[in-house]
Amino acid sequence: MRLLFFGPPGAGKGTQAKKVAQEFQIVHISTGDILRDAVSKGTELGKMAKAIMDRGELVSDEIMNSLVKEKLEELDSFILDGYPRTLDQAKFLDQATKELQKEIDAAVLIDVSEEEIVKRISNRRVCPNCGKVYNLITLQPKEDEKCDVCGTKLIQRDDDKEEVVRERYKVYKKNTEPVIEYYRKNNKIITIDGAQNVEDVTKELFNILRSFNKQ
Ligand SMILES: [Zn+2]
Repeated sequence: MRLLFFGPPGAGKGTQAKKVAQEFQIVHISTGDILRDAVSKGTELGKMAKAIMDRGELVSDEIMNSLVKEKLEELDSFILDGYPRTLDQAKFLDQATKELQKEIDAAVLIDVSEEEIVKRISNRRVCPNCGKVYNLITLQPKEDEKCDVCGTKLIQRDDDKEEVVRERYKVYKKNTEPVIEYYRKNNKIITIDGAQNVEDVTKELFNILRSFNKQ
């Protein structure tokens, strides 16, 4: 099975991709993994990427595309996480997987609304002392805003503040919507309601992919 995973930050996309990878014995790779792998193997592209990163610059879409293609040559089944990020990358991936005769079976969208994401993340609190993470709705500390483990007053990380979360969601929508639309047109999208709890999302996902695997 060859899958892509999409979803807004905070939807649990990475967690679900990992579970699917385990259940169906598929390699789960992110663009970060691909990059690290090519650099450590010292492939031509890896050397190029390393030189760029050593200069403190970002690896271009073009190089990332070539790195992805290089990696997919090695794999028969895979979950690609965090790629493609743009419509151009989606088109490139389409072309590359056709050439390799390893076309994508499905693009999984863990769909969660902005309000739900805001609710989840803006209620997150962390202990600045021991690092334990709480949620004021789903994982409350026993005593009001204090760490169960060490008693330190919990804080909200800047990244978890409502306006930051909303901004990130907007960026996600703007960038990812055209990519999702592209796969929708190609009838590859499997949409899962990510507002359910984690276990239910996993269950639904497994059920769909199992029936899918038999086709
Ligand atoms: Zn603590």
